[in-house]
Amino acid sequence: MYAEFSNVGLCLQAYLYRTEKDWNELKNSPGIRLVKGAYRESASVAFPSKKDVDANYLKLALQMIETAQNGKFRPGIATHDMKIVEAIKNTVNEKKWNPASIEFQMLYGINDDGQTLLTREGYKMRVLISYGSAWFPWYMRRLAERPANVWFVLKSMFR
Ligand SMILES: Cc1cc2nc3c(=O)[nH]c(=O)nc-3n(C[C@H](O)[C@H](O)[C@H](O)COP(=O)(O)OP(=O)(O)OC[C@H]3O[C@@H](n4cnc5c(N)ncnc54)[C@H](O)[C@@H]3O)c2cc1C
Repeated sequence: MYAEFSNVGLCLQAYLYRTEKDWNELKNSPGIRLVKGAYRESASVAFPSKKDVDANYLKLALQMIETAQNGKFRPGIATHDMKIVEAIKNTVNEKKWNPASIEFQMLYGINDDGQTLLTREGYKMRVLISYGSAWFPWYMRRLAERPANVWFVLKSMFR
């Protein structure tokens, strides 16, 4: 598809065992969005424990960011996990990597202050918003994935 459409990209889920192998085969692709993974998967294909998912996420994110130092690959680090964001920032400073080679991605409305700070520090920041006729089912799916969000939305409405 990339041969035909220059703006094509892939999303890889760090909770899948296969993702490290997929990533190794995709190093020459233009860009990849890395997420933890949102759906219920069986332990035969995905890490069941959050600790292992987080560790795999950080490992793959750092590999992608290192690859991006060639100026060709575009990593999309899609997470709201500030422990992971801090660990990435520490490695970027230590290795003197270019912050502008990294694009963090978060949902609209989640941690606005953190998003602003990242842009001030020289990182790219992309915000995902839902729009168009399918915004409502999309939004309901997000709420169903994380019931704590219902409370978050109610609080925001009253505020
Ligand atoms: C830009 C973007 C694109 C995505 N695309 C895909 C996709 O194509 N396929 C897929 O499977 N998944 C996708 N996801 C979802 C992803 O897989 C995770 O389920 C989701 O990002 C939550 O994981 P986390 O990395 O934020 O870490 P978590 O460990 O789940 O969360 C860390 C902390 O962030 C905060 N937080 C996280 N999510 C929310 C939220 N929704 N509302 C409020 N606070 C929150 C909480 O404080 C939480 O403690 C996408 C996520 C983003 C940001």
